[in-house]
Amino acid sequence: MSNVWKGYKDFIVFDKKQEDELVTSFYLKAADGAELPKHIPGQFIAIRVPLEDGKYSKARQYTLSMDSKEDYYRVSIKREAEGNVSKLLCDTVNVGDIIQGSIPMGRFVLKDGDSPLVLIGGGIGITPMLSMAYATVGTDRKVKLIYSLANSKNHSFEDEINELVKNNDNIELTTIFTRPLEEDKLGEDFDFKGRINAEWMKENLPMDGEFYFCGPIEFMRTLYKGLEAMGVKKDAINYELFAPGEDITK
Ligand SMILES: Cc1cc2nc3c(=O)[nH]c(=O)nc-3n(C[C@H](O)[C@H](O)[C@H](O)COP(=O)(O)OP(=O)(O)OC[C@H]3O[C@@H](n4cnc5c(N)ncnc54)[C@H](O)[C@@H]3O)c2cc1C
Repeated sequence: MSNVWKGYKDFIVFDKKQEDELVTSFYLKAADGAELPKHIPGQFIAIRVPLEDGKYSKARQYTLSMDSKEDYYRVSIKREAEGNVSKLLCDTVNVGDIIQGSIPMGRFVLKDGDSPLVLIGGGIGITPMLSMAYATVGTDRKVKLIYSLANSKNHSFEDEINELVKNNDNIELTTIFTRPLEEDKLGEDFDFKGRINAEWMKENLPMDGEFYFCGPIEFMRTLYKGLEAMGVKKDAINYELFAPGEDITK
């Protein structure tokens, strides 16, 4: 019997983890115990939350942030102060609750290849990069994982990423704090201060890389323009917008 469904299916939240001040991860299994279809790293699921009146919240897309070899789904959600669904999820959905989800979808996926892989996540845009980095575990593919965030207060997945990098020689991590706190130490908590710019990219990124990135719009625009300026071929530039409708190439 196929484990794929149309529309939405009940998921049970079996774990909930606060990743930082704003980001919460939800660990999900099918409520009927069925096996979940595997995702391709980079894909997302649509989620909606049952409401008290028997209706559902609006649906929102959330990237699967775990290793695709796991038998559960994990979504990691940044609480938007004025956001409808992210606030509802982070504030009201707890372990044991039911939410609904789609099958994994999306074309922003890790392609096979052996050129150096450059994964760049800005803030919550780290979610697809994490899943992609896990896919390289046990391979020889060289990975540069670059994580840009404000400072230690927003350092989601810090321990998880450190563990991943410690155990896998092929993955090299660069942590960038755009606004480090006084107690944040360069060389210990982060490797570079400020926003990624074209000069930094030219000095630190391989010309022959396969690039994947996701983050705030201006961050992505800078990356796209920087890669263009470096002469990176368009088909090696892959990105995902969490806010559809924007064009970062202009
Ligand atoms: C492919 C894809 C993957 C994604 N993956 C992730 C992920 O892994 N993690 C994640 O956290 N998000 C992810 N997103 C974003 C996510 O789908 C939602 O867009 C996000 O959670 C906001 O939804 P919301 O319902 O909380 O906000 P909405 O209610 O849709 O509001 C959107 C924005 O408008 C602002 N806003 C709304 N109402 C007001 C108001 N009255 N005044 C001022 N501002 C207002 C909110 O602050 C918010 O920033 C992804 C999006 C896409 C397209």
